[in-house]
Amino acid sequence: CGVFGVFGHLEAASMSYYGLHALQHRGEESAGICVADGRDFNYHRGMGLVKEVFDKDKIASLVGDMSIGHVRYSTSGDSRLTNAQPLVFKYRDGDLAIATNGNIVNEPLIRKQLEQSGSIFQTTSDTEVLAHLIARSPKDFVEAAKDALKQLVGGFAFLLMTNDKLIVASDSHGLRPLVMGRIGDAYIFASESCALEVIGAQLVRDIEPGELLVLDKNGLLEDRFTEPKRKALCAMEYIYFSRPDSDMNGANLHTARKRMGSRMALEAFVDADLVTGVPDSSISAAIGFAEQTGIPYELGLIKNKYTGRTFIQPSQELREQGVKMKLSAVRSVVDGKRVVMIDDSIVRGTTSRRIVNLLREAGAVEVHVRITSPPFKNPCFYGIDTPDRRDLIASYKTIAEMCEEINADSLAFLSPEGLITSIGGHNKDDYKGGLCLSCFDNDYPTQVDFGGAEKDGC
Ligand code: 5GP
Ligand code: SF4
Ligand code: MG
Repeated sequence: CGVFGVFGHLEAASMSYYGLHALQHRGEESAGICVADGRDFNYHRGMGLVKEVFDKDKIASLVGDMSIGHVRYSTSGDSRLTNAQPLVFKYRDGDLAIATNGNIVNEPLIRKQLEQSGSIFQTTSDTEVLAHLIARSPKDFVEAAKDALKQLVGGFAFLLMTNDKLIVASDSHGLRPLVMGRIGDAYIFASESCALEVIGAQLVRDIEPGELLVLDKNGLLEDRFTEPKRKALCAMEYIYFSRPDSDMNGANLHTARKRMGSRMALEAFVDADLVTGVPDSSISAAIGFAEQTGIPYELGLIKNKYTGRTFIQPSQELREQGVKMKLSAVRSVVDGKRVVMIDDSIVRGTTSRRIVNLLREAGAVEVHVRITSPPFKNPCFYGIDTPDRRDLIASYKTIAEMCEEINADSLAFLSPEGLITSIGGHNKDDYKGGLCLSCFDNDYPTQVDFGGAEKDGC
């Protein structure tokens, strides 16, 4: 999911519209904006893309100088309007709105405890437990939020808003990205810096693990709700999820992906006539591979702009259909050629097989697949949609078997060291480069088994 917050700007709603539009790749299922005008909340949410959910009149009706917004994709397939965010609640004498990116791993346990002591839940969204924990506390909003956040285990970036306060928080490992920017006197918060750029705001910094920022009439208070633990920003954000024009932790995504491609060329060189990347996420890495090897980079694959990201469709059936609508091979480019095809990850193997076959049908004589991440063997518990372990092809097949399954002439994956070195940023001396690599190495930064039913994170 993607979150976007504004504090102190009368154009809060229209900024949110543009910001969320820039974060659209983070979730296409639903979108919502909630603004506060000092007295009341005004909000609108709907299913679909930002441009489908909002029009000029809707944005004009959202008057206020503080706002939080959200784009969603569900990690459990429970895709319905009641789970669209921001979630809005009656709280004491006013209102409370919450927008989340991430997943609370111990949510089933907390939910059960709350239900046993009388709470009634309106949604299956894991974000709702945070609202209940805050509402039950006798303390003031900020202290209640701190106490509540301390009880959560998982990977999350939260924006919380009351009628006169905005709270911004990141989990103790900083698993999900969240940045702060400024435009004039206003503060902007976004999952990725590309959403700052689009409204002309300047990137100030990343929100750190365990940090909690409070914005109100007194300005900005930089505080924390817990001590920071091992920094573990999601490596998949760099590999695949985020936009190449975003910067995270001091590293630009396009540049990091280019380094992944050139490192890939050093780790698993193969001679060929051309290099092509699977659009959009692997184009940067393909350019890096081409630069390193001197093999020309070509547009061997084209993406139809009018289809969304295939994995964001909740069911496997829709996903398969999505792949077919999405990509075409360029016959005049690949016909009779030995092709190196760069992709960011193999999850189920469906997409990769389909793309290799597209290239072969268009005349490619050899297709060598290079994946700029290590084999994806373990599910994510922190808000990135991954299937069960049994559907992760790398968890039950060897690389040779996967190569056969996807019908490639050769297949290689980037090493974890290669990945960490390529991402760079300013966390080089941190454990694993300050990254979460759990889906590759099974070394989760938090406890993940709470014995409950599966999550509905975001
Ligand atoms: P596959 O070959 O596993 O079907 O698809 C791999 C490609 O689709 C990769 O480019 C990957 O980025 C994307 N993808 C497909 N499904 C998922 C998913 O469930 N989660 C994530 N994170 N990426 C996916
Ligand atoms: Fe990201 Fe993988 Fe960690 Fe999930 S397990 S947060 S996808 S690196
Ligand atoms: Mg892809």
